[in-house]
Amino acid sequence: MASKPVKKITVNKKEIPKEDLHAPRGMHDILPHEWLWRDKIFAAVDELADFYNFNRIETPVLERAELFERGVGVDTDIVNKEMYLVKSKGEDMLVMRPEGTAPIARAYLEHHMGRSTSLQKLFYKGPMFRHERPQAGRLRQFEQAGFEIIGGGNDPMYDAEIILIFQRLLERLKIKNIVLKINSIGCRVCRPLYKKQLQSYYKDKEKKLCIDCQRRLKTNPLRLFDCKNETCVSFKALAPNLLDKLCAACTSNLKGVFEYLDELKISYAVDNTLVRGLDYYSRTVFEFFVEGPGAEVGALPGGGRYDYLMEMLGGRMTPAIGGAVGIERLIAVMKAQEMEAPRRVPKKVFVIHVGELAKKKSLNLLERLRSSGISVGEALGRDSLKAQLRLADKEGVRLALIFGQKEIFENSIIIRDLETHLQESVMMDTIVEEVKKRLTRKKQ
Ligand code: AMP
Repeated sequence: MASKPVKKITVNKKEIPKEDLHAPRGMHDILPHEWLWRDKIFAAVDELADFYNFNRIETPVLERAELFERGVGVDTDIVNKEMYLVKSKGEDMLVMRPEGTAPIARAYLEHHMGRSTSLQKLFYKGPMFRHERPQAGRLRQFEQAGFEIIGGGNDPMYDAEIILIFQRLLERLKIKNIVLKINSIGCRVCRPLYKKQLQSYYKDKEKKLCIDCQRRLKTNPLRLFDCKNETCVSFKALAPNLLDKLCAACTSNLKGVFEYLDELKISYAVDNTLVRGLDYYSRTVFEFFVEGPGAEVGALPGGGRYDYLMEMLGGRMTPAIGGAVGIERLIAVMKAQEMEAPRRVPKKVFVIHVGELAKKKSLNLLERLRSSGISVGEALGRDSLKAQLRLADKEGVRLALIFGQKEIFENSIIIRDLETHLQESVMMDTIVEEVKKRLTRKKQ
């Protein structure tokens, strides 16, 4: 068939040179060896979800911009600076999902998920997009896994359960030197008063603050605690203490969370400047970090209570708590802590062919073995016997099945035990049973 002429790619009428066709900044191809790390993490997430009774949910990658403006808040970096906007033909402005909680809250309301049961335990995995400055632990496309408990009142037991799951996830992945920081950012009753006190504390310092913080001071002063600017950080130490200003209900809620965590023997450090950037949070907020190697990536799992989010999206007030972790950050920490790279489960058998005819018949043989549940490797692209044996050895297989002219003629095949180096010829019709028999035999 005649090949079609290749179209040249042009953007803004400019031709893109071939060498510039790399992945966008802050976004990466996930190559096969990286999938081994990811699969290990996703397997742990799935097991924990099953163990703690969470059901999977998936929302679209594109959402309406208003969802995040209303839910996450127009004054947050995520909405203000980092959203990828997509204008599709004749449609509203859509955004590439920057986080998972607001879409889940939307789905919860849209599908009346509160009607069927008073408590929804949901988990998700998927890519998120934020136009941030790429650096250690900060990508523009990254994968999150998250757990949400929606409904069930604002019982601190659920705060503890969410934290417990992330603690178990880090333990399962054998991540060391974990530190859990926890705080309460109050509720509608106590937070406005605290915000006023914070604004008056910063009043005479305003001119010394960075431009972002000058803006935050008016709109969202708690976010001043998130700033990394040296001068802004220096003012944090003497700022009024959020925990001293909590109302009685918030104090008792936080005390309840501590009691559950103590009961579960989960250690934590109270950090009264931990506020997390999004508008939907209330009361408990938490973040896990590691100390030592890997610390540079920043927060691992993080989350909090979002009792008002449903209301902000037009639903009834429905207390909820959740958190999410960045998969790439977990991998970066696991590598920094020098964990052994995960390996694929090695194949048990390797089919080796000698000659063209054997090669032709090998695909069928492989199919027979595979459909009988035997994990089998091959190097059909290689013709040399030596090269194939070397690959079989590298794969660490127990048995090599050697298939040549003579064997085709006799309708047989050679089974070579790569540990004992003994080999024998068996009839092709019995190959599956013969292989299974040898694989179940104990190693010498
Ligand atoms: P957030 O949705 O901002 O609460 O973040 C939850 C978790 O996602 C963080 O604690 C990180 O582990 C991860 N995360 C957030 N932003 C990024 C990013 N830009 N690149 C990689 N991971 C991220």
